[in-house]
Amino acid sequence: MIDSASAPVKRFLVFTDLDATLLDHKNYSWQPAAQAINYLEVNGYPLILCSSKTLAEMVELARELNTNSPIISENGALIAIPVDHQLSGQLRGKSTYKNYRLKHDGISRQEILGVTDELRGEFDYQYEGFSDWTVAEISQKTGLNMQAAEHAAKRFATEPIIWDDTFQRWQDFESAIAGRGIRAVRGGRFIHLMGQTDKAKGMLQLTKYYRSGYPETLWTTIGLGDSHNDIGMISEADIGVVIPNPRSVKPLHLEGAHIIQAQYPGPIGWNRVVSDLVLSSSQNVARNSKD
Ligand SMILES: [Mg+2]
Repeated sequence: MIDSASAPVKRFLVFTDLDATLLDHKNYSWQPAAQAINYLEVNGYPLILCSSKTLAEMVELARELNTNSPIISENGALIAIPVDHQLSGQLRGKSTYKNYRLKHDGISRQEILGVTDELRGEFDYQYEGFSDWTVAEISQKTGLNMQAAEHAAKRFATEPIIWDDTFQRWQDFESAIAGRGIRAVRGGRFIHLMGQTDKAKGMLQLTKYYRSGYPETLWTTIGLGDSHNDIGMISEADIGVVIPNPRSVKPLHLEGAHIIQAQYPGPIGWNRVVSDLVLSSSQNVARNSKD
């Protein structure tokens, strides 16, 4: 018979994409998910933001959400853990940003720019990227306000560019950078140059930290997202949640016993699924303790 005092505690570890998942695609509000976020907080279930956004952008949101959990930014290329967090010792000796310790995965932005500047110098490729622009120009090209543009410019591991050359020359450029370990991921207007990282790798790395840092806890990971760059995170989580995105030209179709399809887009769908998961798990705990 298992002694209940020494039985492992089961907890959720939640990894979520932001745009069109936790945040409404129009007004960037997370408010419709406030109830579920509160359930996570009162149960001590970490909420880990995992996005292609920069750390500077995400730190602001983490502050707003009142979460002191680690952050995965720039599509998994950067893991950041608050200095005062129990797991920050996992990143001892690494670089810092504000009150976060950082871990870069793979190639840095400086290394990416080293390769692409060399190619542009040699072959005169016509493109421009964030590193070529002032904050005012980034603001004008992205539609972000000046403060948001300043945050978007603080990049560690990815470089967004706008290609302004022929398709043939794009193919030459893309294969040249691929040979140096850099891949190109198409977003809306920008092409993002980055190393061989993705959100799933960041999620698995952090899950490892949680499992070794809290050995008394049985963690169940939940991964939520709406787009193609979320597929790895959703499918490799213990429970994967697809948030429908009616604006997507290629909606996600994932199948599996561990996949939940949210009924509603954005934070409304997020709220419903996460609330149901938390409530049904606490009912199970209550039922088990009565047994
Ligand atoms: Mg998204």
